[in-house]
Amino acid sequence: MILPIVAYGTPVLRKIAEPITAEYPDLKKLIADMWETMYYSHGVGLAAPQINKPIRLFVVDSQQILDNLEEDEKKEYHGQEGVKEVFINAQIVALEGDTWAYNEGCLSIPKIREDVFRHQTVVLSYLDKDFNPKTATFSGITARVILHEYDHIEGKLFIDYLKPLRRKLLGSKLNDITKGKVKVDYKMVFPK
Ligand code: ZN
Repeated sequence: MILPIVAYGTPVLRKIAEPITAEYPDLKKLIADMWETMYYSHGVGLAAPQINKPIRLFVVDSQQILDNLEEDEKKEYHGQEGVKEVFINAQIVALEGDTWAYNEGCLSIPKIREDVFRHQTVVLSYLDKDFNPKTATFSGITARVILHEYDHIEGKLFIDYLKPLRRKLLGSKLNDITKGKVKVDYKMVFPK
């Protein structure tokens, strides 16, 4: 089932999400719906707060980015590996390597893309979809997507990283998004 994605300005996007247990109601269905919603919306990751659930759950398919690189980008991402994975109750263990910029967007903040600096590598502990505990190291574009989604379960958004002036310049666009004055080709729900 395709779920509506909550827009910028919806309070759940600013909450620190809560961990869940394996007893969380209809979790398998929820995860399946999140995948379906993410692909339908042409996203490469989706966090539960974006579908109005304040829980520490996100899904990532970073291989999609690597499969759709422009010719001139292929060299830059050569040798990188994507993941398709469900992350439950994730915690960052360590951030490593230099920071690098990438032009990010967010399904909850349509039509805005900005360069954001993030670490090259993240060591993450989490539970997989079957609640097996894992600790794994992710780098490059995969770390990028994971860190963006991880921010969502911490109540953070990519625009929080912008310099104050840049953020101010986006003010009216952000206002329009909150009011629903934006056209998207996926299902969205706007704050009342
Ligand atoms: Zn996002």
